[in-house]
Amino acid sequence: MNELYNEYSKYLKKKYGEKVYKLPVNLPVTCPNRDGSLGVGGCTYCAEVGAGFEMLENTLSVKEQLNKNMEYIREKYKAEKFIAYFQNYTNTYLQLEKFKEYINQSAVENIVEVSISTRPDCIGDEYLEFLSEFSKRTGINISIELGLQTVNYHTLKKINRGHTLAEFIDAVLRIKKYNFEICTHLIPNLPYDNMDDVIETAKILSALKINQVKLHSLYVIENTVMGTLFKKGELKLLSKDDYIERVIKFLEYLNKDIVIQRLIGRAPKENSLFVNWGISWWKIKEEIESEMIRKHTFQGAKVK
Ligand code: SF4
Repeated sequence: MNELYNEYSKYLKKKYGEKVYKLPVNLPVTCPNRDGSLGVGGCTYCAEVGAGFEMLENTLSVKEQLNKNMEYIREKYKAEKFIAYFQNYTNTYLQLEKFKEYINQSAVENIVEVSISTRPDCIGDEYLEFLSEFSKRTGINISIELGLQTVNYHTLKKINRGHTLAEFIDAVLRIKKYNFEICTHLIPNLPYDNMDDVIETAKILSALKINQVKLHSLYVIENTVMGTLFKKGELKLLSKDDYIERVIKFLEYLNKDIVIQRLIGRAPKENSLFVNWGISWWKIKEEIESEMIRKHTFQGAKVK
């Protein structure tokens, strides 16, 4: 029987021989789509705190954050291998020397991978060059997480991403030269997209041989452009069933080798106007899986 989809936890276990946990690291960094160098106001759904939650204060050093989180996770889950996850905002938007300093601090015992979240238009070759040297020196693997959300460049304009599909393709081709794994963040239920956009996204990511994807449903937070539209009744949100249908279609058109980090995201309750239809993320994940079983479908089922 085909597996429903290529699960991240299983992939990590196979790659590292045991369970591996991500430890979030919070750097004092902003985003060029907020401070005016590429755009102002940020993406229309993005809250001031950036795209990451549940992390320690950035006044602590990288080493301190990693050690503190490692202690907690080790105790709770009996884990021994970890990924340092630079999650918040645009981590390659730091001065190169500062970036090097922070990344070098992540080479602590039991860290097997460094994962860096950033924008596709904000990852210069000199940063990649340094990461390659760091990886060779320390034996730590590198993965890069790129925000994209959709391949529909009209939608990218509407949500004020500040880049189009072209910058994403350019970033992927440049990162591929270093053999770093690439994860892409997507929002399959953007109200400006239709099912064709979802399918095209799956096809383009497959063609580019992206390694992993992370799906989030659209959430609406106070003090964002989408929040204002939502309150005025001007934002048409899709139903949970639509989300499930879109995720399944996306998976069907996605190459089966691509690893799925998440089928649905988690968002903080504070300041949120709309998150996951008021249902726990794991219940929606279970619903997606049950629906796939009912339909006798699986990741890659429609890949020719
Ligand atoms: S690129 Fe990321 S951090 Fe910057 S505004 Fe958009 S979602 Fe927020």
